[in-house]
Amino acid sequence: MGQGKLKIISIGLLSGGLDSILAVKVIQEQGIEVIGLVFETPFFSAQNAIKASEELGIRHIVKDITPEHLAMLKNPKYGFGANMNPCIDCHALMVREAGKIMEEEEYHFIFTGEVVNERPMSQNKKALKLVANLSGYQDFLLRPLSARLLPETKAEKYGLIDRRRLLNIQGRSRKLQLQLVKKFGIKEFPTPGGGCLLTDPIFSKKLKELFENTEDYSIRDIELLKSGRHFRIQGKKVIIGRNKEENQKLKEMATVKDVVLSAEHVPGPIALICDTVSKRIIKKAAGICARFSDAKNEKKLPVIYRLGKKNEEITPEAITQETMDELRINPEAKGPKKDT
Ligand code: SF4
Repeated sequence: MGQGKLKIISIGLLSGGLDSILAVKVIQEQGIEVIGLVFETPFFSAQNAIKASEELGIRHIVKDITPEHLAMLKNPKYGFGANMNPCIDCHALMVREAGKIMEEEEYHFIFTGEVVNERPMSQNKKALKLVANLSGYQDFLLRPLSARLLPETKAEKYGLIDRRRLLNIQGRSRKLQLQLVKKFGIKEFPTPGGGCLLTDPIFSKKLKELFENTEDYSIRDIELLKSGRHFRIQGKKVIIGRNKEENQKLKEMATVKDVVLSAEHVPGPIALICDTVSKRIIKKAAGICARFSDAKNEKKLPVIYRLGKKNEEITPEAITQETMDELRINPEAKGPKKDT
């Protein structure tokens, strides 16, 4: 490659993970310009990838794909992984977005940091083919880290890139990647996995429950899944803050339609009831709120609730542990898990 005066420009999906950083390096090694494409949705942020592109010194484009991603999430063609992660459809969507930009900007090809068999479900050869076909840009999609194990793409066929200098990495061992880290003198890279909430079992459970119970869910409904203990009382979502930060966040996220409750006279959490509700529901939610306060054994302790600009006092309903467990959507949260 590199003959003549044609300047080859590629667009690469950049997650900020090691594989995507190495893929950039392998492409750059052949004198090809790289534009990094960074995505964001409520489930993953662009932060790591922006940092990586700055360290790599490449131009990057940040694209919020929330509407497209949510639409895909409703009914992914190839279903979900171990949690609510529709990895094949998600990758295909990202490649499709990259393809659109490639066409608009007249770049030459798309690449990703995918490695054959690195993830058993979403990165085996069959899955990589499904991603390529579903994206609609299969001929333009190069995986530089595993390219020699995969069919030739247009960029290779037409000599835009030298296939012999592309790699044949496969499997979960990251030995070869670590050798490349040394070769390219990469100083910093994030630990593998994590970062996508759709691979977190607890978050996934809450998201699934939201989809099952709310037809017109909003971005705020999804953002609220990131904080607190979640309960559902007669169809209405009740969220109890777990600490000072979450209490503050819930207060800030409340709209005038919502009900905000807090135990009076004793330290305790904030409870947010999403939507306008009956007094019965407020009493029950107040009961849960009181159970998480420092006076959990004092049944009659009043709870203050705010509806719009008005504050009122309510005597909470006595709530047993059993009732709490029945109404609870999520057990205690843990950190994000790796893709499967
Ligand atoms: S882990 Fe998350 S961001 Fe990555 S492909 Fe799967 S669903 Fe998409």
